[in-house]
Amino acid sequence: MYALVDCNNFFVSCERVFRPSLNNRPVIVLSSNDGCAVARSNEAKALGIKMGAPVFKIQDIVKKHRVECISGNLSFYGDMSQRVMSVLREMSPAIEVYSVDEAFLDLSGIPEHELKPLCQRIRKRVKKWTGIPVSIGIAPTKTLAKAAASVAKKYEEAEGVYLMNSLQARRSVLQRMDVGDVWGVGRKLSERFTYMGLNTAWKLSECDPAHIRELTSVVTQKTVLELQGTPCYAFGEEPDHRKQIISSRSFGEPVKDLKTLKEAVSTFVATGAEKLRSEGTEARAITVYASSSPFKGKYYANSTLITLDNATSDTGVLTKQAMKGVDEIFKQGVGFKKAGICLHDIQHKSAHQADLFSVVDNKRSESLMTAMDKLNSTMGKHTLRFGTSNPNGKWRNLCKHQSPAYTSDWAQLLVVK
Ligand SMILES: [Mg+2]
Repeated sequence: MYALVDCNNFFVSCERVFRPSLNNRPVIVLSSNDGCAVARSNEAKALGIKMGAPVFKIQDIVKKHRVECISGNLSFYGDMSQRVMSVLREMSPAIEVYSVDEAFLDLSGIPEHELKPLCQRIRKRVKKWTGIPVSIGIAPTKTLAKAAASVAKKYEEAEGVYLMNSLQARRSVLQRMDVGDVWGVGRKLSERFTYMGLNTAWKLSECDPAHIRELTSVVTQKTVLELQGTPCYAFGEEPDHRKQIISSRSFGEPVKDLKTLKEAVSTFVATGAEKLRSEGTEARAITVYASSSPFKGKYYANSTLITLDNATSDTGVLTKQAMKGVDEIFKQGVGFKKAGICLHDIQHKSAHQADLFSVVDNKRSESLMTAMDKLNSTMGKHTLRFGTSNPNGKWRNLCKHQSPAYTSDWAQLLVVK
């Protein structure tokens, strides 16, 4: 059996851990530039605020019901996510982190009567140790576990855990589930299925998988098999090393000068390189990209790929290359609205190929980076940084209502009086 552990209203729940005054109130978390609602508390959902709703469209509801609007703080949520995952890792035989707020657990080998009590203990401990409420669905396949988790979330009687271990349970859940809510069935496909009369997950599960394959694809055939209880998606205990690291931002105001654009890109490089080092990896290539707003004026977008002679995680080396990239893609007269970097060709440090002609002194570079990371982790982000970067430059986002970095910056720790 598999379990899917899903954090409830994750971003909102993170905020509530440190601000209990937000409990039982309508709360939404906003995307970058405070544009759209990307997470909603149950109270906000009840007011009819839709996922992804643009803030300017829901101003009336926000004012009338005093909805708390919070600017998203992704590094904070990432940190809370790691805490949740580490509790799961400790309590279950094997875990596959699926997204920032979801993880699959492999529960094979656990006697059936133990499944529910185990998941209830997991749920209690995650809540107690991290403050985050989760819902858990248990089922024979990943697709069914996803469906079970949504039942666990929706119905109070389930008390946060739903075990789907019989045909009867499977039927009653799938009959009430829209085909579009099935894991892996996108909007297009769901329209097509509905047109064919397959409007519920149950009806889709009753189809002949081979027939579905002819009509659609092998991926959808797998979905049907999974709905029938035949596992098709393998469990990956440890996901592969990530293939790429992206660090990018939309700007609060359009950036028109080269210096500011460089400050932004250099800051992105620093973030990306720090991530590489924290994972013990190095990159051999970096892409720098920037674009104007697609909605205003003439659209301009450009990018450049730079391949390095040696894989590295040295912020200095990567920054130097990225700055050349910015020179290349910058265009006078363009108001840049977004820029970013992507590190690729990522490999583990241990795979490093020594280069006889390398000009980079690896030992020196490594101790400098270690010292920088140590300083920044103990004394606060960006305490020591490269002069080209400027984390508080003109390009910064408008995050008017962002909560403090409670868990990752000593200076912003919560003070209890
Ligand atoms: Mg969730």
